Amino acid sequence: MGNAIMENAMALDEIESAPAKAAPMIEVEVKRWHGAADSRVFGWQTMHVKEALRLQDETFRCPECLGRVRLRQASPEKETDAHAEHYSKNTGCSLGGHFSGEKRPHPKPVS
Ligand SMILES: [Zn+2]
Repeated sequence: MGNAIMENAMALDEIESAPAKAAPMIEVEVKRWHGAADSRVFGWQTMHVKEALRLQDETFRCPECLGRVRLRQASPEKETDAHAEHYSKNTGCSLGGHFSGEKRPHPKPVS
């Protein structure tokens, strides 16, 4: 009789928690004047990408990680709608295409 040590079969399931397919970023934040004429404030405002695409020379950032983003026009060939993407991949942001599953702030947030 061997002295077989039964290994605990409860192998730790290091689950690849497959992150859900990232939804395209369709809202961005833009720093601009907003508000009514008599109470205007300069600050970040959330805006749909389609609206943001009409602006020129503005800085846009991701509403989640605050990293800088660029805007993309809709592309009929690629069947994508207008959306925004990070200048530099951020695996800690669920709005990018590279989300690792764990949210972390962007290393260089735009303020
Ligand atoms: Zn982000």
